Amino acid sequence: MSDLKLSTISLKDILRLAKERDPDQTEFHQAIHEVMESVVPFIKEHKNYQQAGLIERLIEPERVVMFRVPWEDDDGNYRVNRGFRVQFNSALGPYKGGLRFHPSVNLSIIKFLAFEQTFKNSLTGLPLGGGKGGSDFNPRGKSDGEIMRFCQSFMNELFRYIASDTDVPAGDIGVGEREVGYLFGQYKRLTAEFTGVLTGKGLAYGGSKVRLQATGFGLLYFVKEMLEQHDESIDGKKVIISGSGNVAQFAAQKAIDMGAKVISMSDSDGYILDKDGIDREKLDFIKTLKNEKRGRIKEYADEYSCEFSEGKPWNQPCDIALPCATQNEIEEEDAKKLAENGVICVAEGANMPCTDAAVKVFHEADVLYAPGKASNAGGVAVSGLEMSQNSKRLSWSFEDVDERLVDIMQTIHEKCAEHGEEKEGINYVKGANIAGFIKVADAMMAQGHV
Ligand code: NDP
Repeated sequence: MSDLKLSTISLKDILRLAKERDPDQTEFHQAIHEVMESVVPFIKEHKNYQQAGLIERLIEPERVVMFRVPWEDDDGNYRVNRGFRVQFNSALGPYKGGLRFHPSVNLSIIKFLAFEQTFKNSLTGLPLGGGKGGSDFNPRGKSDGEIMRFCQSFMNELFRYIASDTDVPAGDIGVGEREVGYLFGQYKRLTAEFTGVLTGKGLAYGGSKVRLQATGFGLLYFVKEMLEQHDESIDGKKVIISGSGNVAQFAAQKAIDMGAKVISMSDSDGYILDKDGIDREKLDFIKTLKNEKRGRIKEYADEYSCEFSEGKPWNQPCDIALPCATQNEIEEEDAKKLAENGVICVAEGANMPCTDAAVKVFHEADVLYAPGKASNAGGVAVSGLEMSQNSKRLSWSFEDVDERLVDIMQTIHEKCAEHGEEKEGINYVKGANIAGFIKVADAMMAQGHV
């Protein structure tokens, strides 16, 4: 491994450096590629950003914590998982970003998410740095007691590194209100402090109204702006949403309320196709199925006599595609199929659900495409508002928080339009990356070589 020093500022050199350091971290390289592809041409024109090892510092996390999480299952067996917290960049504020519990979790995935989070948080305009964490623990099929014991053991280690002005985790895949509750309870017990150290908390103990809905709602507020900018609207559009978890559920709810017809949702087993559209009542069935019964999306097809297929939903015709499940779920072939079938807009609810090749297909086919760091920033934005309410010991109304969310999503859209303007229209990838970068870079330069 070499010293972290670039000979020239080029995308190739930045990627070479990242690959030399961590050859196996493919998701992290992919995220660096996605951001730096837009940022490198910009900094070639703004030479001040080529100084002080800025790029070298930007692609190296400030701190990585990895730890053992031992826990006992219901049969009395000892089990061991691995825990992570990557504190990527604190130029703009305390580290902020979710915790993911999923068997696929590894250091590469957490670093990619934390890196992305840094620029996303910058775009929200709130004083938040970037971080992310999680574990390769698989919550699927675990009892409530097992989930609680795991969360407590996870926090027994994590509590040393987080605090309300230092690092404030939230939920992500596999970490919802139940898990945040167990994590918060253990933090409180270990520190004897009741502070806003986690967001996504229950409303009874410091959670913010709209946090539960924020990522999905924010996604639709962003899509509305994109479509209006291009003389289109959501009303009457056919929408496919992947996933059926937190983001997918509230994206579906807002899409239905805005007059769209949601025809498909999914989980890791496959997708349902309901040609009549999922209405609010059917969506309530999905929410109960997933959140309370912890069931599978296939049961929707049994309940409403519609199709269920294994695999991904992207071969079905639609006007708007909202990937809300996981990274790299839309690959080049999926993107080609969507474009062939006439999709007009793809907006990411998940983090990096489209591969670089898929994004290229969308750009070439003139499909409006929004990267997650812009379109799914509503979740972390309301988490930022939850932190503000906690520190002031206040609780704002649903309407108040929702209004602020709309405002934040509109502002993010404006920033993308300002920095992503091209002859062919708005390039949202370029706009989001450059707008996110400028604020972080300026703060890093101002704070010296740290
Ligand atoms: P949930 O755990 O609530 O839901 C995840 C959904 O995606 C489930 O339906 C799950 O299916 C499905 N899924 C997970 N992994 C895979 C896979 N490998 N293949 C197919 N389907 C899969 O998570 P969230 O809704 O919170 O998060 C979804 C995405 O949104 C993630 O990328 C997350 O990083 C991103 N995000 C979340 C935010 C939030 O506020 N929660 C904020 C910003 C981004 P199954 O039940 O079968 O596992």
